[in-house]
Order: sequence, then structure tokens, then C-alpha cells
Amino acid sequence: MIGAVGQAGYMAAGRGNWYADDISKVIVSEEQIREKTAELAKQVAADYAGVDGLLLVGVLKGAVMFMADFARSLDHPVELEFMAISSYGTRATSSGVVRILKDLDRDISGKHVLVIEDIVDSGLTLSWLLKYLTSRGPASLEVVALLRKPDAVKVDIPVKYLGFDIPNEFVVGYGLDYAERYRELPYVGLLRPEVYER
Ligand code: 5GP
Repeated sequence: MIGAVGQAGYMAAGRGNWYADDISKVIVSEEQIREKTAELAKQVAADYAGVDGLLLVGVLKGAVMFMADFARSLDHPVELEFMAISSYGTRATSSGVVRILKDLDRDISGKHVLVIEDIVDSGLTLSWLLKYLTSRGPASLEVVALLRKPDAVKVDIPVKYLGFDIPNEFVVGYGLDYAERYRELPYVGLLRPEVYER
């Protein structure tokens, strides 16, 4: 239902402010994301200059925003692929045991693959994914991750292109959700504890 109150509230608050009361702190601002994305894209374009068959593999759903902005910043032709995986375990403890919900649509052998990740937390999911993709025979394989929580890392993963190291706290926005909400926020922020308690 889109009621008059909701619409008025949205118009008064402005874009991205639907959830303003739920977010206690901005961890990475929209501008910081924009600048870092451009910087990472520049680095990748330089490193892959002259390389044919650059393939971005995004991990659904969290990486969608970052992947879209990164691909548009990148001055290099790319192809896009998506995988959806789910980690067994609770939110707080990723188990590293992964189920594929959506596999690659095609062969990646001989392609130069860049995995696009929203966040590296324990690193267990990414570690599994890198092994899986390696078994498909890409010409090269590297990781572009917007966020990493260095204090949470259990498996040391070489993230060649990293956006930001952030504190070991649960964040939402810019693709990252809590119960499927907040993904559309243009920044990364901390949720107020009351939200979990609702
Ligand atoms: P890992 O296997 O590295 O522990 O977990 C990676 C996945 O857990 C991420 O791709 C993301 O979906 C989820 N995740 C980890 N930390 C956070 C967080 O702070 N906020 C949200 N919304 N998801 C997270």
C-alpha cells in the first residue's frame, strides 16, 4: 500500500531516507563508494588492458549494486554472469558449506574471471566459490570486493581489488540486506539494535 503519508514522507525525506530512523551510522558514504569504485575500475582496466574475454561473475543478491556501478565505471569490455549461493549456518556464523541456487549459465574455461563480491566476512563463502570457479578452468581468477571485515576473516583470501576494510559489525545497504530490506540504500550503514528486536 502506498498511502499519502508514505508518499509525503518519502518526498520530504528525499532519496535513500526511507530507513533513516533505522540506521545509526553511515559506515561508507555514497560518495566514498563512487570514488572507490572508479579507482578500482581504473586499476582493473589498466591491469587487463589488451585482455580479451573479461568476465565479471557477480554473487547474488548482495553484489548487484556494486557490480552494476563497477561495470559502468570500467573502461574495458566485459561480459556479466551471476551465481546465487546460500551458505548454511546462521547470519553470525557462516559454515563454509555452500549450496548453489543459481549456477553459471555457461562455460568460463579460458576466460579471465573477476568475482564481484559485496563483502568478505569470514571468507568461507568466497573460499568455496574460488575453488568451484577454479575447477571450471578459467584463464585467470581474481576477486573484487567492496567491503572486508578483517577482524572476522577465518580463511585468508587474496582479494586483489579491495574497496574498504570495515569494523566487525553487521552492515546493510548498497546491496546488503537485513531480512531482504535495505538493499537499495545508496550507502553502507549500521542498523540500530531496535530493528533486530522488532
Ligand atoms: P562469509 O562466508 O565471508 O562469512 O559471508 C559472506 C556473506 O555473508 C556475504 O556475501 C553476505 O551475503 C553475508 N554477510 C556477511 N557480513 C554481512 C554484513 O555485515 N551484512 C550483511 N547484510 N550481510 C553480510
